[in-house]
Amino acid sequence: MKKIAFVTGGSRGIGLGIAQHLASKGFDLAINGVREESAVEEVLMALRALGAEVIYCQGDIASASARTAMLAKIKEHFGWLNVLVNNAGIAPKVRNDILEATEESFDEVLNTNLKGTYFLTQAVANWMVEQKHETPDFEGSIITISSVSATVASVNRGEYCVAKAGLGMMTQLFAARLGEFNIPVYEVRPGIIKTDMTSGVTAKYDKLIAEGLTVQARWGYPDDIGKAVAAIAEGAFPYSTGQVFVIDGGLTLARL
Ligand code: NDP
Repeated sequence: MKKIAFVTGGSRGIGLGIAQHLASKGFDLAINGVREESAVEEVLMALRALGAEVIYCQGDIASASARTAMLAKIKEHFGWLNVLVNNAGIAPKVRNDILEATEESFDEVLNTNLKGTYFLTQAVANWMVEQKHETPDFEGSIITISSVSATVASVNRGEYCVAKAGLGMMTQLFAARLGEFNIPVYEVRPGIIKTDMTSGVTAKYDKLIAEGLTVQARWGYPDDIGKAVAAIAEGAFPYSTGQVFVIDGGLTLARL
């Protein structure tokens, strides 16, 4: 039986990098995003060309009804789910100093990046526990893409950092709770990755990287994250639940 992975925000950027590697490793996929299916049809076709059966689950992860509908669609189509990859996320619309940033932006970022992810994880965790009861050899895992921003303070996007730090505790909580069911839960912390999210700050990061911000003097790519997540999803780290995988080219390596 093929394993099914649900990748939120899986039609571009880091999520697509993850979806490509999972498809290549033999997973079938449910891909989520907020855009209409017609806008991502080519991406879905390309993933299918890698050998995966792929469905699209359009919906805002911050919406409870959308989360319910997406999981119902996966259940109806595939019948089960082995891997949840919490990847969807947003940056603040405007990078504002924390002395001025608005509650509106805080709510928007926290609702999507933390609350939406938290309750999607809760719903999937309950479904995985059910599957484990029905089929004792069921294998499930949950992987959340947070960020180096979980520990690196950027004072012009505090709401983003707070949300990503929250995902760190979320991972530990669900890892602790799901231990008895042997469902491991992991956190992946990317550094600076070339995607649409960082396209507006390309010049800034080009300069910082050239000046030595990272030990490995280059941008990270969705492929770097995809490789790692596929290894985790395949079960390469069965005795590491609750742990953090940092994929940042040495950005967080303290140097003197
Ligand atoms: P992109 O902006 O390139 O892509 C974001 C994806 O998330 C899109 O597929 C988008 O859907 C989806 N998405 C956004 N909001 C929602 C929502 N409310 N509900 C469902 N889907 C949503 O981002 P990246 O690929 O750069 O980032 C992916 C993740 O990695 C994010 O969580 C981000 O915080 C994190 N990250 C990124 C880093 C970077 O340097 N780029 C570094 C560290 C972490 P659609 O395509 O339909 O618009």
